[in-house]
Amino acid sequence: MNEHDQEKARAIEESRRLRQEKKAAAIERSHQFRAIKGLRDILPPESAQWSRVEQTAREVFGTFGFAEIRLPVLEATNLFARSVGQETDIVSKEMYTFIDRTTELRPEPPIGEMPSYVEEIGRLMESGSIPGTEPNRATFKYLIALGKEIFPIEEKLSELGKLTEYLFQLHGFQLGDSVSLRPEATASVVRAYIQHGMQTLPGNVKLYYMGPMFRRERPQKGRYRQFYQIGAEVLGTSDAPGIDAEVIEMLMRLFERLKLKGAVLNINSIGDKNCRPAYVETLRAELQKVREQLGADSQRRIETNPLRVLDSKLEHEQAIIEKLPRIADHLCDACRAHYAEVKRQLDLRGIAYQENWRLVRGLDYYMRTTFEITATGLGSQNAVCGGGRYDGLVELLGGPATTKGIGFAIGTDRLVLSLQEMGEGATPGGLDIYLAWFGPAAQSAAIGLARRLRDAGFVVELPAVEMKFGKSLGLADRLKARNAVIVGDEELAAGTFTVKRLSDGTQKKLNESELFEYLRGERA
Ligand code: ATP
Ligand code: MG
Repeated sequence: MNEHDQEKARAIEESRRLRQEKKAAAIERSHQFRAIKGLRDILPPESAQWSRVEQTAREVFGTFGFAEIRLPVLEATNLFARSVGQETDIVSKEMYTFIDRTTELRPEPPIGEMPSYVEEIGRLMESGSIPGTEPNRATFKYLIALGKEIFPIEEKLSELGKLTEYLFQLHGFQLGDSVSLRPEATASVVRAYIQHGMQTLPGNVKLYYMGPMFRRERPQKGRYRQFYQIGAEVLGTSDAPGIDAEVIEMLMRLFERLKLKGAVLNINSIGDKNCRPAYVETLRAELQKVREQLGADSQRRIETNPLRVLDSKLEHEQAIIEKLPRIADHLCDACRAHYAEVKRQLDLRGIAYQENWRLVRGLDYYMRTTFEITATGLGSQNAVCGGGRYDGLVELLGGPATTKGIGFAIGTDRLVLSLQEMGEGATPGGLDIYLAWFGPAAQSAAIGLARRLRDAGFVVELPAVEMKFGKSLGLADRLKARNAVIVGDEELAAGTFTVKRLSDGTQKKLNESELFEYLRGERA
């Protein structure tokens, strides 16, 4: 190889190395995991705010006689389809749904092995690992029969059309139950109420829950794909308006306790199965007349759900909506009386409200009383809580027809956001004591002291390894500890501890009982 060739070889080698490095860097980048779009982490110190909100809810709801129910996050897809409603945005396009497929079934094999694969499906259907539904059984029989005609395929190339049919049927096979991440929890509460026969319990069943919900919406401020709700439900044979008012009272007590300012309660009655259908038809007829002036969404809703048109936020639709017939003028006597009494019961409790005839809820199960609470600092996602009555839901899901229900769900993300916006920020966690120790004997003394301090309720940071004095106290500063307690040979010999207030450097030598007293004073 002459010099020129060597040069060339080196250049090629160099460029190959650069390419490889670039590729490695790209792989590295693609391996950096990030949370999935619309899902987020809630970190300290914000998480302390969340705990405070949830703890306060537990306390307030507890005083109203509510107990916690913990629910699964996955439910049968049909539960939501039936209760929330097939035509709603939530069920028609926002749910995270998948087939909960058995791991006992191997992945789909090459065509030659299809017959044994289908037999395997049959066995798993018998054992219950694959749903033995009517359609599945029929498909199975059909596949067996068709398989006899077309396999082994090498000998029957004329049967290719039937093979396409075979694969089509096979892919229509439901290999597991359809399950969904819950988009809301009322359906689950009602499912649990029925499943556990809670109608036999005395009085009203009063339950609250808190936890994540999932909807595949467009993420934006106050709107996430995993969001959190704190909700409560009252289930029982009575639909007394006093129950509606007390549920709302409980909610307002919580917001007061949390010092949420600017919360506005909107209420409405959307009638029941006696009067709403006629109103919906009246509304639909009126909407048909102005159809051309409406946006695409509202036009579609004239057919699917005219009530939802009232919910529209589109600027140019507002004047049109204002002139539409109002449900208040179309309520039957029973609904009108119920609504009037809800308002009187709210007055009795000194709860201010705004009547909002356009307040309809996006879930099918609501009837009569509906309400929503808006808060400040949230932009267009300003509803922190939605709720209402759902008297027919228990029956719809197969429970006793006599059970009525009412409840609400608070959007915890939005509630926390609103509290932050108004400066009701997270309470600083705060480190009371940084326990600096120097030397092996001091470490053992420090471990014992840390335990006694923590037992007394102090927040203590105990370094896991020995550090130089300056470095250790520097860390105490950066962790914003209120006091440093120093344990070294000198202190051990004297049976005392040195305590240093980090804000002004005040230093004292104290024995253990004096130390505890001093630190209690520092905390107050
Ligand atoms: P919106 O009109 O804001 O979409 P919604 O009518 O869909 O609300 P509900 O199903 O009644 O809301 O849920 C009750 C509360 O849950 C809402 O008032 C809101 O605070 C909260 N919430 C609903 N969807 C989300 C979401 N994607 N992200 C954060 N919070 C949400
Ligand atoms: Mg929504």
